[in-house]
Amino acid sequence: MARKLLLDKAHIENIRYYDVYRANGGYAAAEKVFKGMSPEQVVEEVKKSGLRGRGGAGFPTGLKWSFLAKPEGVPRYLVCNADESEPGTFKDRYLMEFLPHLLIEGLLISSFALGAHRTYIYIRGEYAWIPDILEEAIEEAKRNNWLGKNIQGTGYDLEIYVQRGAGAYICGEETALIESLEGKRGNPRIKPPFPAVKGLWESPTVVNNVETLAAVVPIINIGGEEYAKIGIGKSTGTKLISACGNINKPGVYEIGMDISVEEFIYSDEYCGGIANGKRLKACIPGGSSVPILPANLLLKTAKGEPRMMTYEGLNDGGFVTGSMLGSGGFIVLDEDQCVVRNTLTLARFYHHESCGQCSPCREGTGWMKRVLNNIENGKGKMSDIDLLWDIQRKIEGNTICPLGDAAAWPIAAAIRHFRDEFEWHVLNPEECLKRNYGLAHYADPLPVPAAVAAAV
Ligand code: SF4
Repeated sequence: MARKLLLDKAHIENIRYYDVYRANGGYAAAEKVFKGMSPEQVVEEVKKSGLRGRGGAGFPTGLKWSFLAKPEGVPRYLVCNADESEPGTFKDRYLMEFLPHLLIEGLLISSFALGAHRTYIYIRGEYAWIPDILEEAIEEAKRNNWLGKNIQGTGYDLEIYVQRGAGAYICGEETALIESLEGKRGNPRIKPPFPAVKGLWESPTVVNNVETLAAVVPIINIGGEEYAKIGIGKSTGTKLISACGNINKPGVYEIGMDISVEEFIYSDEYCGGIANGKRLKACIPGGSSVPILPANLLLKTAKGEPRMMTYEGLNDGGFVTGSMLGSGGFIVLDEDQCVVRNTLTLARFYHHESCGQCSPCREGTGWMKRVLNNIENGKGKMSDIDLLWDIQRKIEGNTICPLGDAAAWPIAAAIRHFRDEFEWHVLNPEECLKRNYGLAHYADPLPVPAAVAAAV
């Protein structure tokens, strides 16, 4: 049985309420900090743990904290990124819904370490019922003097506010989130300056993911060095994975980062194998923006070694034969799933969510969607496959924020690993339409202009 550090109390009835959380060891880490640790010691402990951002990028958290500028007389902010909008990812939702005090305790310790006195939880609008849970927990924490003025007699003050987003995927990008928090349209900013220097209301700001901040609690409880003993290499500690798709046991799992992908898919402790006795075809292992991997490259690396559920393991082979751990949204496809259709669904999503600031993303995502729509609906040409490849190449690396890359990578990987499936769609338009069971809602409202189509 894998060691659990975040979900170890999740099975306890009513753990979302303060009294139950406290009676089961809750706020012990905060107590430890306030009884004898300086902010610098907390940062040092997080550095020792090797914790990396759990939102997708995997940047070392302690290092990110150490970049925070500390000019005299200027407030600093901590912002909790709870805008969990990546398709296939729902692990932060689980933490906030069932263990809100774990997040609040993590925010309290992290805010203390960073010298922040106002902290914000920016939560995606679609999680409509969760802000009430968080606000109730914040009130409970205030009543018990874990928030507010002079916390536990230490002289430290902290207020936590919950801000609801309005349902834009792009607000998960930290500078777009900050813009939205300031009451503006959620457009990503051009960097530098980075938020650590000029963030919320032009003040130094750290933006961390929900799971990252919750992980600070066990790090303080067991110590950074002990935390770093779990996992392999630079992938330390435990990681929440939200598993979905054609598996027997979809759900949120906490893994030690020392297990293989094969164990995660087939073990009864986790996904329990492929549903309905089907064969594994492919997997998007880290949320919808990371490259899809076919079964053979998913279970073993190109070197023939077992692929591990770590940052380095999933990236082994780069984007040619590997993928990314990303946000931990693990989407499994069985042998009956159509990769072209799946890729079209993603292309529609990214086009819809593009904020429109940069041309490669705004125009390119629209073109990728239209060309894919033609291929999926039996109207594609062989040259469309190369056209798709060409468009995604022109988006990647040429945009203000990573949404452009996120839109390009799934298409590149789908063509790289499943080109024969794209060709099958072109060569078998009637068969393709038959398989296209009633997908009228995929009809594109903006058909490719005849003159452009003729030129392609
Ligand atoms: Fe907006 Fe897309 Fe440019 Fe990001 S890459 S700033 S989402 S247009």
